[in-house]
Amino acid sequence: MLAHEEILIRTGARSGLPIIIAVHSTALGDAVGGCRLWSYQDWRAGLADALALSEAMTFKCAAAALDFGGGKSVIALPPGVVLDEHQRRQAMLDFGDAVQSLGGRYHAGEDVGTTAEDMWIARERTSWVHCLPVAHGGSGEPSELTAIGTMAAIDATSRHLTGTPSLAGRHVTIVGLGQVGGRLAHLVAAAGAKLTVADIDPQRAELARALGADWVPPEEAMTMTTDILVPAALGGVLTHDVVPRLRCPAVVGPANNQLADPSVADALAARGILWAPDFVVNAGGVIHGTIIDFAGGTVEEATAAARGIGPRLADIYQRADDTGRTPYEVASRHAHQRVAEANDRRGADRS
Ligand code: NAD
Repeated sequence: MLAHEEILIRTGARSGLPIIIAVHSTALGDAVGGCRLWSYQDWRAGLADALALSEAMTFKCAAAALDFGGGKSVIALPPGVVLDEHQRRQAMLDFGDAVQSLGGRYHAGEDVGTTAEDMWIARERTSWVHCLPVAHGGSGEPSELTAIGTMAAIDATSRHLTGTPSLAGRHVTIVGLGQVGGRLAHLVAAAGAKLTVADIDPQRAELARALGADWVPPEEAMTMTTDILVPAALGGVLTHDVVPRLRCPAVVGPANNQLADPSVADALAARGILWAPDFVVNAGGVIHGTIIDFAGGTVEEATAAARGIGPRLADIYQRADDTGRTPYEVASRHAHQRVAEANDRRGADRS
């Protein structure tokens, strides 16, 4: 059975690129989710990514107590293709047209490979794009709050494991130093942790030098001995092959869809590794967009809500300990229940 409410796939009239929008659920409210501009073997792989990421957005909003549904979009680049400025503009205008055609059921912001400036271009074709550049009166990059929320999750995890949120002298390893990972690296370094970082982009080594962090290859970083491993690049990194090789007591990161499949959560628990559900950890970005752009709230209000990810995660850990379930199971049951109840209410209203 199709789990998604709506899927749009079209070839961009200007760019010729596959533009994909997946709306997983609008049971709790309009679907929100970022636009990913990334390279895929073919558009079907981009579609698979959009389907999985939009579903995760539904449960991310539900877990964060937001009244929004889940969606996601992908502009799929063929392998090896890098867009020049003109091609990128064409792609974002095509994307804006696609968002507009959904009539406001899906609202977009930036994700991997896109920026606030890209959303500003899409804005020429639709008003349902958000997190626009501050210079144009928008709320700006959501990554700042994603990093702040992830830091709150790391603190809560540290407290759960050691009794103190202090990271002084602890070893934190961040894999992926992009919009979120780069900001998070600053926060972790400022907290006095020993920091190791990795990225496939050699240019990010500059940030490692500036922060006094160790720079290692990504494949080494994932399995090195560390106190907290932070996946901050792409998803699917926690597989049944990788889990036996992990050498850390906890994995807490902003990357979406880290588990190759849900059973990996059990494998992590069986090894005594605490895994913070990613859809709880990385809600700072959607909190930014929904509180500032939709509800007209202040940056301070949104920041306080993103910091609330720490206590929310602590509660999930506690309930996991009390019930013998994994944190993933606890968080996912709660989020699914919220969405199921909203679906029931909607069904009753329509009948
Ligand atoms: P980004 O594109 O700015 O950064 C991703 C970084 O990861 C890049 O520097 C890239 O070179 C690096 N990378 C890619 N593959 C890698 C690999 N195999 N090993 C090591 N590094 C690799 O993206 P971002 O906005 O920082 O998002 C990072 C993750 O967090 C994504 O999974 C995204 O979906 C998730 N996320 C982001 C936000 C947000 O506010 N930006 C919100 C929620 C979730």
